[in-house]
Amino acid sequence: MYEGIVQDLIDELGRLPGIGPKSAQRIAFHLLDADDAAVRRLAEVLIQVKDTVRFCEICGNVSAEEKCRICTDPRRTDEVICVVEESKDIVAIEKIREFKGRYHVLGGAIDPIGGVGPNDLRITQLMSRLGSGETTEVILALDPNIEGEATAAYLSRLLGPMELTVTRLASGLPVGGDLDYADEMTLGRAFLGRRSV
Ligand SMILES: [Zn+2]
Repeated sequence: MYEGIVQDLIDELGRLPGIGPKSAQRIAFHLLDADDAAVRRLAEVLIQVKDTVRFCEICGNVSAEEKCRICTDPRRTDEVICVVEESKDIVAIEKIREFKGRYHVLGGAIDPIGGVGPNDLRITQLMSRLGSGETTEVILALDPNIEGEATAAYLSRLLGPMELTVTRLASGLPVGGDLDYADEMTLGRAFLGRRSV
C-alpha cells in the first residue's frame, strides 16, 4: 500500500479491464515520472471523451453525433445488418473493406455467470430495426467464445421465424478470444465464407 493519492491512482487503474495490480502499479509510476504536459493531455482527453462521445441512436456504435457515420452513409445498404458485440468489432470488420451494409452493436454478449442476460443487450432495438422489412440478411459476427456462441444461438432462435437469412462467420477464427484478435486476412476469409444458420 502506498500513501493516499498514489494508492488511489493504483486502485483506479486496477479497475480497468485487463489491468492487474502489477500493471496498475507500473502505469501509476510511469505517470508520476512523466512530464506534466503529457499527464494533463491524458486527463483532458479522458474528460473530453466522456463529455462529447455518445452512442449512435440507431446502431449503438460510438459516435460524435446522434447518428454515426456508418448509419448516415448513403453509399451503404440497409439490406444487410452485421451484429457485433462492441464498437471495436466494427473497427476490425471495417478494416477488411468487404462489408457495405450497416451494423448493430449489442453492447456485450449473453453471459449467465457474469449476470448478463438478453435484456441487458440491445436486442429489442435490433428487432425494431428489422421490423422495417428492408433487411434481408443478418450476419452474426460475435466473438468466438462461449458467450458469443450463447448469444448467436439465442439470436438464431429469435430471428429464425423472420423472413431473412441469418448467417454466421465461417470457422477459422482463433477460438476463445475476441473477434478483433483475428488478423485481417483471417477475419476477411471468415466474413466471405459466412454460412446460413
Ligand atoms: Zn450508427
